[in-house]
Amino acid sequence: MDGDIEIKEIYENGMKILEHLTNNAHELQEQMLEEILKRNAGTEYLSRFFSSDQADKQSFKTNVPIVTYEDIKPYIDRIANGETSSILFADPITQFIRSAGTSGGQQKLIPITTESFEKGKYVVFWLTLWITVFFLSLGRCFSDLHEGKSFYLYFSKPDMKTPSGLVASPYSTFYSKTNTFKNSLAEFCISPIETILCLDHKKSMFCQLLTGLLQRDEVVRLGTIFASVLERTIKFLEDYWRELCCNIRTGYLSDWIIDPGCKNAMSFILTGPNPELADLIQQICEDKSWEGVFKKLWPKIKYISSICTGSMSQYIPLLELYGGGIPLVSPSYVSSEACFGINLKPLSNPFDVSYTFLPNTAYFEFLPVNKDGGGKAQETRTIDKPVDLENVKLGQYYEVVVTTLAGLYRYRVGDVLKATGFYNKSPQFQFVERKNVVLSIGADKTTEEDLSKAITNAKLILEPFGIMSTAYSSYSDTSSTPGRYVLFWELKMKGSNDLPKLDARVMEQCCCIVEESFDFTYKSFRKDGAISALELRVVKHGSFDELMDFYTSKGASISQYKPPCFLKSEEAIKILNSGTVGKFFSPKTMS
Ligand code: AMP
Repeated sequence: MDGDIEIKEIYENGMKILEHLTNNAHELQEQMLEEILKRNAGTEYLSRFFSSDQADKQSFKTNVPIVTYEDIKPYIDRIANGETSSILFADPITQFIRSAGTSGGQQKLIPITTESFEKGKYVVFWLTLWITVFFLSLGRCFSDLHEGKSFYLYFSKPDMKTPSGLVASPYSTFYSKTNTFKNSLAEFCISPIETILCLDHKKSMFCQLLTGLLQRDEVVRLGTIFASVLERTIKFLEDYWRELCCNIRTGYLSDWIIDPGCKNAMSFILTGPNPELADLIQQICEDKSWEGVFKKLWPKIKYISSICTGSMSQYIPLLELYGGGIPLVSPSYVSSEACFGINLKPLSNPFDVSYTFLPNTAYFEFLPVNKDGGGKAQETRTIDKPVDLENVKLGQYYEVVVTTLAGLYRYRVGDVLKATGFYNKSPQFQFVERKNVVLSIGADKTTEEDLSKAITNAKLILEPFGIMSTAYSSYSDTSSTPGRYVLFWELKMKGSNDLPKLDARVMEQCCCIVEESFDFTYKSFRKDGAISALELRVVKHGSFDELMDFYTSKGASISQYKPPCFLKSEEAIKILNSGTVGKFFSPKTMS
């Protein structure tokens, strides 16, 4: 068995394959790098650093620089504008994957090749592997999982074309259009492909939810790629359950679903009136508290599958509330550039998830990152040389660097990870944060992880009042001197969507807790008056949905949407400002 594995094999031998991959992690990584170099050494890009006859691992490591997207963008732009793709890799590329760009700040074009597409070695193939292996590992915990189906919500974005005519689509859209996905869909999922490929999110969401409710007895797992989308689905259900019930009661699809694909697909699912089911769903949704609503709507559901690590962890309390005790599983760690790892302990606490890297998806290197302050994130600096997968040290932070089969060489993905263990010989990592995404007024640097910890601490103050946080974001306000951190916070009552009554003293206490949780540098600047008091803006229910709409209107895929922890776009800040219902400050001076 080598790095290439047939999909059929995966279905049949998932665990055996996992053992093979993780036991031979080092050898498979070497093999992968060799193959990439053998094939692509003659490209314009690589031949700048060594000649074809020197294309070995040592020359690669010594001569090829570690780069960011900005460094290789000129090469990608040339290909997008019609120059030969042999600038970056030997095979002609067939299209680009378009990253969401909501967490890192910019949409990127990532190339894929005909070969990687056909062999399915890139996104399709490995996503399938992960999902399958993931099912198998779950199978150890739930014996009857194979009997039901998945209610996974997927969404598509229109393809864009580069000036040279190459298609650029988000990986979720690209994946949804492949035969592999279409073929496995009927087996695993209840949503018809037409509802997934519908480009109008509202119509797509309505039809997928209607399908989910009509086939509620078949559903054993509910999921989206990222937790932010599941949160959006809940909000949509809150707004549309009456209309969904009306469709179920009468057997007629709402008039505004005009998409021919959706109409046709739904005609096979919504086949006649079902007043009993409509009454039941109405009764569940009329309950003021939606605690445990998933279990009530889908009585056979065993778990929720949605990435809820990193910036997605802000949705964990909400999903746990709606799940009413159903396990929340963060299945995998993936990106447009490469697929990294899978969660082999699906039942672990969502805040403690580690991903086991798969050595045949890309060649991985790890740049040690110094997080000063004994694990407390004060400053994130990249240090030293990168290490191979086998030389990863437990407890160390790293930035992940990939070399792919489709033309990325020593490319910094921009994610910071913490090594937490090994599964056989494959390292396992916790996702920590996006690198270089920070709140900062001067020399202070507050990272995604710092902010998340600070919010977690502040939430504890609100819990006794039955108030929960549904989303947050922030920006560095330097419009006046000294500048300040501004925090946007969407809050609701635990049992309803009502806006909580906010006690100014309690909210001020939250501001203080947030500031207290920040690092030494922030606190000393704040005490010296170089940073003004933190401002907390509470926004009304639905404000973060508007933010998502804004980013998806700019081209981000809803399936891959990651709410930005730090806002840079003036328009995005304006959206949250217009939803602001209360402003609170920490005291002028910090003691
Ligand atoms: P994109 O390619 O636009 O879909 O974004 C990929 C990025 O999403 C990664 O580089 C990570 O920053 C983030 N991401 C993907 N999977 C996870 C995960 N399991 N936990 C936290 N963040 C993730």
